[in-house]
Amino acid sequence: MSFTLAIVGRPNVGKSTLFNRLVGRRLALVDDQPGVTRDLREGDARLMDLRFTVIDTAGLEDVTDDSLQGRMRRLTERAVDMADISLFLVDGRAGLTATDRVFADILRRKGGKVILAVNKAEGSAADAGALEAWELGLGEPVRISAEHGEGMEDLYHLLRPLA
Ligand code: GDP
Ligand code: MG
Repeated sequence: MSFTLAIVGRPNVGKSTLFNRLVGRRLALVDDQPGVTRDLREGDARLMDLRFTVIDTAGLEDVTDDSLQGRMRRLTERAVDMADISLFLVDGRAGLTATDRVFADILRRKGGKVILAVNKAEGSAADAGALEAWELGLGEPVRISAEHGEGMEDLYHLLRPLA
């Protein structure tokens, strides 16, 4: 038995960087699978001895502000519905934005399992961001650096019970 993890969050927080780290070269593009648009990328992830499916919610980067809310919500809800657990990423350097709070509301309302991760947390640049992230009401944030591979053991321990 394996599980599916959906990486969600606003543009530019590092979702694809984390996806690429977890998937490496094992990317499975799902453009031609029924029910999955190219706005969702799916791959076979590895984290130490864990094997699971990971979904990246791409495709939000190129939309205008007007259409972002609705499209973001639909795409995020679809990814969350496909997954056993969601990894909600925020940018620990930028601080919380209104859009982060919209995502947090979506996730809280859906009521599924959520890991809150503060990305870009290499060094101490995300110390304030990690404290602020408690405000989202999604529990204790885990600090990670998708780019530098930090916090992967903490992530492992949070995901291990799902395997
Ligand atoms: P997405 O839009 O959420 O998929 O974000 P991307 O993965 O495209 O990353 C957005 C930007 O953040 C890129 O310039 C990345 O190099 C940068 N980034 C991603 N992860 C980290 C990190 O852990 N630390 C730092 N400092 N930058 C990161
Ligand atoms: Mg991306």
